[in-house]
Amino acid sequence: MNSYTFTYSIYQRPFRQPLKTSHGVWQVRAGIIIQLTDNLGRSHQGEIAPIPWFGSESIEQAILWCQQLSGDRITSAQIYQIPDNLPACQFGFGSALTAFTSDRSKSIQTALDISALLPSGAAAIERLPALSTQGYSTFKWKIGVLPIAQEVAIWTQLMTVLPADAKLRLDANGGLTYREAEQWLELCDRESRIEFIEQPLAPDKISQIRELAQLHNTPIALDESVATFDRIQSVSADGWRGIYVVKPGIAGFPWRLAEFITQYQLDVVFSSVMETNVGRDAAFQLASSLQLNRSMGFGIDEWFSDL
Ligand code: MG
Repeated sequence: MNSYTFTYSIYQRPFRQPLKTSHGVWQVRAGIIIQLTDNLGRSHQGEIAPIPWFGSESIEQAILWCQQLSGDRITSAQIYQIPDNLPACQFGFGSALTAFTSDRSKSIQTALDISALLPSGAAAIERLPALSTQGYSTFKWKIGVLPIAQEVAIWTQLMTVLPADAKLRLDANGGLTYREAEQWLELCDRESRIEFIEQPLAPDKISQIRELAQLHNTPIALDESVATFDRIQSVSADGWRGIYVVKPGIAGFPWRLAEFITQYQLDVVFSSVMETNVGRDAAFQLASSLQLNRSMGFGIDEWFSDL
């Protein structure tokens, strides 16, 4: 059993522009950077970046967990025993622990593909060409924000500026009615550049989402419905064969997530929890080891947040 010296520091990072989420306005990302040092003096960091309204612990609970470790030391056994109600802690400690045994120098792909979030509404039409020039070829646009007729009109224009070889994801954040979802799917079925529609209906409406998926060619991704590792497991057990948007930062131990994705051959999009480089690199490491082939929802800039 390995034992490590353990230190941690709490950070507060204001967003350049506050993020509007379905749970209100998010102004400051608070998280914890942990560091483990082994008896050879080698150190690795991990990041705990909770999103409580997405099903993880709160920052306060994560801080308590760090504080209760007595004597500034932690063993690998203690890390394996971090309970499932602390998934962001599991990821932070788990990824730091994994770093001692993985060859980080070789395995991060340099060309991991990132999807760019467009501003909502008509502003997307102007923004898309600029992002395209920067090298992005996968974009995400939020739907279910404006009345559907207005949104479809903007979308029609958006498709005229989307390059022929680019892809667009539509994220409804659970905000469509069944009939609206049908309308969108019918439109998208005639447009090959739509990669998928994300979370068309509310998180608990999985059987209706499955019905929509059976009736249309456009792939459907679940996000809010699969926010935590136990939700990923149960949705998979229920037979969902569409796409899973996974936020590794709050999905628990990285090795457990990797094993599950591999075992059930899940079609996965990795997505950000607005973490710093520490957590992002750990997620990239994991994505790289899994050879995921869909663009990831990780921006280099807060604006590209993928929630
Ligand atoms: Mg989403």
